[in-house]
Amino acid sequence: MPLANPHLDSLAVHAGRDDLEMLGVHALPLDLSSTNPLPDIERGGESYEAMATGGHPVPDGGFVYQRLWNPTVARFETALAQLEQAQASVAYASGMAAMTAAIIASTSFSGKRHVVAVRPLYGGTDHLLASGLLGVEVTFCAEHEVAVSVRPDTALVVLETPANPTLDLVDIAAVVAAADDVPVLVDNTFATPVLQNPITLGAAMSLHSATKYIGGHGDVVGGVIACDEETAARLRQVRAVTGGLLHPLGAYLLHRGLATLPTRMRAQQAGAVEIAAWLRSHREVEHVYFPGEDDRGLVGKQMHGPGAMITIALRGGYEAAAHLTSSVQLFTHAVSLGGVDSLIQHPAGLTHRPVAAHAKPSANLVRLSIGLESPEDLMADLDSALSVAPAPAARATESEARADLSPEFA
Ligand code: PLP
Repeated sequence: MPLANPHLDSLAVHAGRDDLEMLGVHALPLDLSSTNPLPDIERGGESYEAMATGGHPVPDGGFVYQRLWNPTVARFETALAQLEQAQASVAYASGMAAMTAAIIASTSFSGKRHVVAVRPLYGGTDHLLASGLLGVEVTFCAEHEVAVSVRPDTALVVLETPANPTLDLVDIAAVVAAADDVPVLVDNTFATPVLQNPITLGAAMSLHSATKYIGGHGDVVGGVIACDEETAARLRQVRAVTGGLLHPLGAYLLHRGLATLPTRMRAQQAGAVEIAAWLRSHREVEHVYFPGEDDRGLVGKQMHGPGAMITIALRGGYEAAAHLTSSVQLFTHAVSLGGVDSLIQHPAGLTHRPVAAHAKPSANLVRLSIGLESPEDLMADLDSALSVAPAPAARATESEARADLSPEFA
């Protein structure tokens, strides 16, 4: 970027494209090579060794092999790091691959095996941590319990803000202070770099399921972590060795998605603000979860806006949730979020199915991802699907509905 202090909107369009003019191209080049010609054994070998230990390719050493380095992925990483105001970023095959790499890197390089996790979290993250699959001990806690949960063997504090699915806000700077010298990872998926930059608040890592807003069109799965260069080297080493790399076609789509991210985010957020206000007075809606009512003023302080996710608690319990999700016409009943089209899903039954019963979201919650459709059309769709809600007598109680959910994970 030629400008000294570009606006986020300009960065989103131009970041990571510095070499395009030299290459004589206008659109992002897509390099799909799985392997690369080697200059000679010695220089190729040096490059291999540098990248397998988390470094960059050496001059004239070549990229060697896609699992170690790919220019299309590297361009996306440069751009994302700039949007996050971080030194670097490292991209993965999915958000969960990124989270796995962050936990492996934090524990193995520190020699510590304990992780503190602030609930609520995305169900997949909760499941990964609770499953013991990575051989770490986890203390789940609330935001105010971080300081007492951190131990001498704690390698990492994990939090999500806004959190999936109740959109709870966590004060990033306060958790960083409470964690003392333990690195803090913030899942920034719901806020995106447009609304929140955790690195500037002291977090060590800002993680995205890039599958969501960064891609924005529901056609790519990816993950990325913004951080400092030292952490990035560790994360790249884990990626090179374990193989959770982002495919270059995914990186191409994600990089292209960045250009419209600020505009999409602002438009989707504007629709969500309107829809959340309307839902607050809907007779079938018991409560609307939408960032903004936090008395700590975190929207405005650490976040530039509330985002475009809304969760509603329905008076009619699980039955009403089941009815709503299968009655909408313009919303698609599907997991995932952050795309240009609106999605609706039931967290307790789907995205948070693996979460322990006592921490599972209520059965009457439904999560909405607001897209770019007209807010009026989305409200009309919700209204007609909510208006034909089942009669109270037919409604299951919340505890009955919860007992029915996910017996294999209970
Ligand atoms: N973090 C959050 C907040 C999510 O919502 C998700 C997926 O829904 C993930 C992480 C995992 O990302 P992925 O599905 O790309 O592996």
